[in-house]
Amino acid sequence: MQSRFPGPHPGRIREATRLRQDREGEMALIELTGVSKVYRRGEVEIAALRQVDLSVAAGEFVAVTGKSGCGKSTLLHLIGGLEAPSRGRVVVAGRDLASLGERQLTEFRRDLVGVVFQSFNLLPLLTLEENVALPRVLQGVSYARAAAEAREWLAQVGLTDRRHHKPHQVSGGEMQRAALARALINRPAVLLADEPTGNLDHATSRQVMELFAALHRKEGQTIVMVTHAPEAAAYAQREVRLRDGRVMA
Ligand code: ADP
Ligand code: MG
Repeated sequence: MQSRFPGPHPGRIREATRLRQDREGEMALIELTGVSKVYRRGEVEIAALRQVDLSVAAGEFVAVTGKSGCGKSTLLHLIGGLEAPSRGRVVVAGRDLASLGERQLTEFRRDLVGVVFQSFNLLPLLTLEENVALPRVLQGVSYARAAAEAREWLAQVGLTDRRHHKPHQVSGGEMQRAALARALINRPAVLLADEPTGNLDHATSRQVMELFAALHRKEGQTIVMVTHAPEAAAYAQREVRLRDGRVMA
C-alpha cells in the first residue's frame, strides 16, 4: 500500500525499540518511573506531578486527559526533555534523560522529539515552507534539500498551495497542519502534542485529528497527545487520566 506520508517508517523508532528490548526485554519507548515535579515560587511549592508511573509502547497513540492544572503539559515537557523531574526517572527511546549532558539533550530534543502546540508556534516572518524546513536546517541539512522535504510534508498535510504563505495569511487549521509537518520532518521517535485542537473549531479539529490518526495507522508513529476534548481523545488507543498530578487507576 502506498504510504500517505513521505519515506519509510522512521528507522529511529525501530532503533530505539531495539535498544529497549536488548536492555530489558520489553518494548516501552517511553518509561516514567516514580516521577514527581515540584515548582517553587518563592516560599510556595506546587506539586505538578506526584509519583507518576507511565509506560508507552513504540507505536502507541496515547491521550493524556484531565482538568486544567492537573499536570498534563508538565508531563509532556518531561518526556520531551524540556524540563527535568524533581524526582524519578524518565527514559525515552533508550535514553535516561538525566544521564544526558546539555549537548546530548539538545540533540535528543532536536532529533527524536517532534512537538505540536495549541498555539502552533510558527515563526511569523517565515513562510510555511520555511517554517517546516527549519528543523532540518538546524540538523545541518542544506536549505535546498530541507525545502524539498518540506514541500513533500506540506503536500501530505494538504498545504501545497499555501506553502509560500506566512502563518497570519492562513487559517488556524492550516497553521496546525503546517506545525504537524514541521514536527514530523525530522522523523521523530515520539510526537508530542499539547492541546493540538485547543484553538480550532469542531470541523477543523476533526481534520487535524484525522491526520494524527492516519499518521499513527500508516506510519506507526508513537504519539502522546494532551487534550481535554473527549472527541480528540477518542482518536487515541488509550487514555491516561491525570488528576492533581497523579495518574488515575
Ligand atoms: P495542565 O497542562 O494540565 O493545565 P500544567 O502541567 O501546565 O497543567 O500545570 C500543573 C500545575 O503546575 C499547575 O498548578 C500550574 O500552575 C503549575 N505550573 C506549571 N508550570 C509552572 C511553572 N513554570 N512555575 C510554577 N508553576 C507551574
Ligand atoms: Mg497545559
